[in-house]
Amino acid sequence: MSYLEPAPIKDKENPLLSMMSRFDEAVKHLGISNEMYDILKVPYRQVVVGLPITMDNGSIKVFEGYRVLHSNILGPSKGGIRFAPDVHLDEVRALAAWMTWKCAVVDIPYGGAKGGVTCNPREMSAGELERLMRAYTQSMLDVFGPDKDIPAPDMGTSPREMAWLMDEYSKAKGMTVQAVVTGKPLVLGGSLGRVEATGRGVMVCALAGMEKLRLNPFKSTAAVQGFGNVGSHAARLLHERGVKIVAISDFTGAYYNEKGIDIAEAMAYTEKNNKSLEGYKGGEKITNEALLELEVDVLVPAAKEDVITDENASRIKAKLIVEGANGPTSAGADKTINEKGIVAIPDILANAGGVTVSYFEWVQNRLGYKWTQERVERRSDRIMKDAFEKVYEASVKYNTSMRIAAYIVAIDKVAQTYKFRGGY
Ligand code: GLU
Repeated sequence: MSYLEPAPIKDKENPLLSMMSRFDEAVKHLGISNEMYDILKVPYRQVVVGLPITMDNGSIKVFEGYRVLHSNILGPSKGGIRFAPDVHLDEVRALAAWMTWKCAVVDIPYGGAKGGVTCNPREMSAGELERLMRAYTQSMLDVFGPDKDIPAPDMGTSPREMAWLMDEYSKAKGMTVQAVVTGKPLVLGGSLGRVEATGRGVMVCALAGMEKLRLNPFKSTAAVQGFGNVGSHAARLLHERGVKIVAISDFTGAYYNEKGIDIAEAMAYTEKNNKSLEGYKGGEKITNEALLELEVDVLVPAAKEDVITDENASRIKAKLIVEGANGPTSAGADKTINEKGIVAIPDILANAGGVTVSYFEWVQNRLGYKWTQERVERRSDRIMKDAFEKVYEASVKYNTSMRIAAYIVAIDKVAQTYKFRGGY
């Protein structure tokens, strides 16, 4: 089998196939050449490393790490680093391509990349995680760079890990290089508003989508799957704008309350409870699968990929899906979702608020200057709203879903840019 062909993955839809099938459909609308198709499809660099780490008990464990650089046509490649037990190369390739399309949709000057390490951060100590992140950074010294490839947090990583990465990279270069990574702690050149940025963009897209569907936020309900950095802030911000959040969830299960969950209280609970909703009493316990099928106006999948599939799509009752996670809807589910008249605001638009504020962080680092939270929010809200309208217009023009329209906008932009500059 060719290294460039996605391998079938057992027990799981392959996110790379999901990404490619949408890509293929959008390309049909645009009618781009076969040469351009290949240029946009194949990542320009893929790095796989083995990382031997001394564990706290003195033993040595080898972890596998990846960094896939999908495109640098619009600028240096950008994308997070995922620490999770089921990380694999095809997933990282799909996530890298999604970053290319995401940056193009919101019109920021970056290509796309993604990194990952197969590990279970919940079972590792802070010291083990620090050694792992520093080793990963060492192995990527010739990959990363403020003008080459700029990592950020993703599932299982946070500002803490980004600080270790910045420090390790800076040590190797003999000077402090803040702009090599975004999503850093504030004191190390992080941006105000970065932590909640993805959730905020989800909120902006949800409200824009609700307006198109004539749903009044004060009379609407939502269910949010995932209560990490994206889901918790999306729930909080939607709640603040009048939407009743009737269910939230994390890996411990889902919590349903038809009167509405007090999101601030739930966030305070997870803060004290080792970042988990385990034992949360503000709602009746249901399963994560049941949460997806609730009778709500808005569904925000903000946990992981492939949770809405051809198996459960027919049972989804929401009118609007706003994808906080990357790839939560498998390609097999698209047809059913569209046929049911459900509007899905796709990941590459809905969760682009994070990378948008990452871009602002990088700009501030390079300027040696700090923006106020108000400036960050005003500019990112405008970018998200403009991107939403652009995708909406494309969906009308090409008579297609918001998802395919977002790919059309993104692929067209990258292809046009390539035509002008050629590759290097
Ligand atoms: N990991 C986030 C994403 O998937 C953020 C990436 C970034 O800020 O570079 O969009």
